[in-house]
Amino acid sequence: MDISRYDEVIQNLITDMQDSRGKDPRVSISCGKKLLEYGIKNSQPELIGFARFSMGETYYLMNDVDNFYHEMTQCMEPLEQIGEWGYLTMANNLLGIVSLNRGNAPLAMDYYMDAINYCYEYSLPDLEFLVHMNLAALYLDIADADNAIYYYERCRRYLDKHSDIEGYINSLTAICVGLGKSYLLKGDIKKAEDCDAVIEDRCMGSASMLDLLVIYTFRARLGLSLGQRDETMRCIEIIDRHFSDELPVMDIFDDVYDFMRLLLEIKEYDTLVHMLKLMEQPVDTTGIKNLQKKLLTLKMKYQKETGQTEAYEKSGVEFFELSQIMDQENDRMIRDTIALRNRYNDLSVLTNEVRRENEVLLKKSETDPLTGMYNRQKLNTYGDVIFERARKNGRWLAIEILDIDYFKEYNDNYGHQAGDRCIRFVADAIMELKNNKGVFCSRYGGDEFVIIYEDYDDTEVFAMAKRLKERIVEMAFEHKYTKVPVGVVTISQGIFWGIPENGESLWNYLHSADNNLYKVKKKSRNSILLSRYSKKDAAGVQKEEMMTDE
Ligand code: GH3
Ligand code: MG
Repeated sequence: MDISRYDEVIQNLITDMQDSRGKDPRVSISCGKKLLEYGIKNSQPELIGFARFSMGETYYLMNDVDNFYHEMTQCMEPLEQIGEWGYLTMANNLLGIVSLNRGNAPLAMDYYMDAINYCYEYSLPDLEFLVHMNLAALYLDIADADNAIYYYERCRRYLDKHSDIEGYINSLTAICVGLGKSYLLKGDIKKAEDCDAVIEDRCMGSASMLDLLVIYTFRARLGLSLGQRDETMRCIEIIDRHFSDELPVMDIFDDVYDFMRLLLEIKEYDTLVHMLKLMEQPVDTTGIKNLQKKLLTLKMKYQKETGQTEAYEKSGVEFFELSQIMDQENDRMIRDTIALRNRYNDLSVLTNEVRRENEVLLKKSETDPLTGMYNRQKLNTYGDVIFERARKNGRWLAIEILDIDYFKEYNDNYGHQAGDRCIRFVADAIMELKNNKGVFCSRYGGDEFVIIYEDYDDTEVFAMAKRLKERIVEMAFEHKYTKVPVGVVTISQGIFWGIPENGESLWNYLHSADNNLYKVKKKSRNSILLSRYSKKDAAGVQKEEMMTDE
């Protein structure tokens, strides 16, 4: 974002907002609100999109889900308008994470897919990596091991090439643990052990406390799969000792949840109760009912297994109430998304219409209305492109100007409308040449046409021009007033052929071709004159060489 184009007050607001990002949510939100107000008042989509995105991100970090949803979904339209694909990717990515936390995996998948599409389309590899990580976690969450492995492996390959990225160990840990758990889910214990070896080798030495907790949740599961219950118990003991609700435990909720499930499976009830107690407060703070429900489910299973009937029934009521709120939440989330998609669709339909209209306008401005051929304007612009391309690549180029013979007589005797038909007849014959690759045809004006031949040698160009001339005679379009003895419409052609050199332009070639046409008209109509320059001789003299069919 280029902030220099805003006045000082706005620049300061943006800087304050960026500086407080992730550190001081109060400042961040207050700056965001002021920016948003200014952006709306002055119709500045860039400021609106940026302010809403930043506020959304802050609400995400504050676990304020409702406000997060509101700002994050609203930031998309202005961001799309100004083509901020990176921010759009991040917005979709965060919406995916929160949707999954809220228990709506399909919606999360939808957001991740949008994010991925932006990454592919606009080549954003570092963001692509983040989204792939989240996609992998989603698949693991829904127990689709194959897809989880696919995305974790992609992430691992990316990380292998980018060992200098911020949070490298944290990412590598997440990938190896995720991959290891996916392999365990598939029953491939050998591969899971390989993941553990990488963890031991590359992560353990510099892992943070949070990373270590994650690693031990995996090792507890791996130990169980290997039939090493002692190892599992050792991991459980380590986690139990170090786990504290003072750590940002919500960042590793999935791993903690998986660990608590394991405790339930192996009936380690004391640790389970302890963990449930520690997780209660952080989960309640997020206000995410789905996470509360997940904890409650574990608690109810435990209560049932241990025969605490009364507590179990009480939890059941709580469970029912949570489910009801979640259903409402889900409905609202889906309604918001559909409304957003509809607005998007309207916007893209509109953009498509404008694009189509522009295409029609552009085509119109390049087309000669009488013949449907390219006009002189297109010749000027596109001709330059072709010329430059030939010059750069040292390719052959020929320019032909052709003109209907005694067209004035035709017009004067048959009338203007018939004259138009005659021009169209010649134009149609010329346009058949377009079937040859690298041949460009245009109407130059009046009864004159210009053809450009790209990458044909002089004899090929001459042969094509000759065939055109003969075909026009063969088609025998009546012209009683021509002085050419055949008595039908004929054309005369002047061509210049060469390899464009530095300092030459399309105009030089056109001018030489026109000179040749002039010579032909003076000498004998219904004929062709092609000229080209010979290679310089020993004395450095370059001669003009001619080909003619007179
Ligand atoms: P030459 O053999 O030397 O080419 O002679 P000519 O009669 O073909 O050439 P000249 O330039 O003398 O006449 C061209 C005529 O074409 C003059 C003009 O009235 C007519 N003309 C130009 N544009 C159009 C058009 O769009 N439609 C019709 N019907 N006539 C046109
Ligand atoms: Mg003419």
